[in-house]
Amino acid sequence: MNSTLTSLPLAAIPAEDEALRQNVRAFLGDALRGMPADVRSRSWLGYDLNFSRALARQGWVGLTLPTRYGGGGRSGFSRFVLSEELLFAGAPVAAHWIADRQTSQLILRFGSEAQRQFFLPLITACDIVFCIGMSEPDTGSDLASVRTRATRTDTGWVLNGRKIWTTNAHRADWMCALVRTSGTAEDRHKGLSQMLIDMKSPGISVRPLKDIVGDTHFNEVLFDNVGLPADALVGEEGSGWKQVTAELAFERSGPERILSSIVLADTWLAAARAADHGGPNVRATAGRIAARLAVLRAMSLAVAAKLDRHEQPDLEAAFVKDLGTEFEQSVPDWIRGTLHELPATVRHGELMRSLAYVTQIAPTFSLRGGTRQIMRGIIARGLGLR
Ligand SMILES: Cc1cc2nc3c(=O)[nH]c(=O)nc-3n(C[C@H](O)[C@H](O)[C@H](O)COP(=O)(O)OP(=O)(O)OC[C@H]3O[C@@H](n4cnc5c(N)ncnc54)[C@H](O)[C@@H]3O)c2cc1C
Repeated sequence: MNSTLTSLPLAAIPAEDEALRQNVRAFLGDALRGMPADVRSRSWLGYDLNFSRALARQGWVGLTLPTRYGGGGRSGFSRFVLSEELLFAGAPVAAHWIADRQTSQLILRFGSEAQRQFFLPLITACDIVFCIGMSEPDTGSDLASVRTRATRTDTGWVLNGRKIWTTNAHRADWMCALVRTSGTAEDRHKGLSQMLIDMKSPGISVRPLKDIVGDTHFNEVLFDNVGLPADALVGEEGSGWKQVTAELAFERSGPERILSSIVLADTWLAAARAADHGGPNVRATAGRIAARLAVLRAMSLAVAAKLDRHEQPDLEAAFVKDLGTEFEQSVPDWIRGTLHELPATVRHGELMRSLAYVTQIAPTFSLRGGTRQIMRGIIARGLGLR
């Protein structure tokens, strides 16, 4: 790309995929009945293995994976519809989300046939939980300087190093990690590989980290001479950077990059309607949220269409993440600016607890999945500036 006028070709959800929406909505209506808004506001940080397994029994985990591996064989659009409904409802999807969104796609594309046959049916049944080990202390955003190292042995690999911010490492059965297998940290993109690590392996310790609201979902993970079999390697040795870049496009462009505050927005809208619509600030804020959401949704859908065609939309995914997380982070501020127009009866309970939660957690929206500065660096490269 060399012009700032380049735009994303818009895409529409085909009717057969849109038809999935009603079934998912009906299922969620039952499954989440009575769950308060402040709990649902945790959205995709909410972890409930039983819920994820119930979803898997509906055939809704691994929806886009080929049927021969237990998947649904459906298009990326159907997954888009499913993701939107899950996020709108604030469903606790963390137990299957990472494997469903990223690791399964990685294994399908770069894994060996044996890895596909082993992992993909377990993922689609939600029988295993995955975590992702990319970030390290001092090399968070700068993934190319990863220092955790797997050294070849006669039988496989031995792993030493440290990962940080690893979501659900304490509950995961497996980790997909980016590690150095050759060269030095100065070699940057060369010599990195991805490894599938059984979290029960001796030598792994997991230390919880508390976030600002007191939840413990991410961790520090230490590897002390962890022995791995030869087939822990996924894809080619030394191709980790290319593989991770492909994987991150799935992480950066989905509806979760625009809908993290949607339970709050919906709870607020329902309260405003019940309170006789509030004043001018309420009306302006409703318009502002709906207008931005419409544009962001069209962008996210356009990237989903590219991913479905097996194109490599790293740049476009960075657009969605940069703008999407900015929107998600603005929603609690905008809503706070309307509270004086809402009656006291509304300014307590679920709405305020949801607002308090999202306000505190919102700074992380632009961090997870790659920071805003990193997204802008990717865009600058696309514009020929780097
Ligand atoms: C809720 C949550 C869940 C997460 N889950 C996971 C997970 O499961 N697995 C995982 O691997 N990681 C995970 N992360 C880590 C996340 O991706 C990191 O926040 C990220 O890698 C940043 O690393 P860091 O904290 O070391 O910050 P740093 O990399 O130290 O960055 C600090 C600041 O400096 C800026 N900066 C750094 N380098 C540059 C540069 N070259 N140019 C311009 N600016 C720069 C950054 O943009 C940022 O603003 C999670 C994070 C959060 C918040």
